[in-house]
Amino acid sequence: MLDRRTFVLSAAAAGFAACSRVRADDAGTTMDDRIFEVTHTDAEWRRLLTRGQYFVLRREDTELAFTSVLLEEKRSGVYSCAGCGLAVFASSAKFDSGTGWPSFAAPLDHAVLTKRDASFGMVRTSVICRRCGGHLGHLFDDGPAPTGMRYCINGVAMNFAPSP
Ligand SMILES: [Zn+2]
Repeated sequence: MLDRRTFVLSAAAAGFAACSRVRADDAGTTMDDRIFEVTHTDAEWRRLLTRGQYFVLRREDTELAFTSVLLEEKRSGVYSCAGCGLAVFASSAKFDSGTGWPSFAAPLDHAVLTKRDASFGMVRTSVICRRCGGHLGHLFDDGPAPTGMRYCINGVAMNFAPSP
């Protein structure tokens, strides 16, 4: 079994198999920024992000359900990580899960990583940005066919750009 400090790649990012296991630090609550392309100190992240973005992306908080403006976003376009700008989900993968968080059946290729999250007495799978390590949300296996996956993503952790 993978321990909570072992990152695993999502199936969609299997092309990165050579670095499928990377280390998080020993502090527990924060990830080891050194493994990511985009890195900042905690003070820099606090300055760069809004308070809401900071607590979700860097402290693995979860926004309140039904609060994201992106929940009702129906336009065609791309959702990117609010921490580093990496495109992480396409509107074509978005669906209404009824959970109160923007939900996607699949990420874009090479966009996200997943890791085991054993916080709050539950074992869940965290979804993090491949480029900056920002916490985006969680992955569940009760999504629609054909993937059966539900990427339950905090709207505050993303920016949306409609297709031109
Ligand atoms: Zn990012």
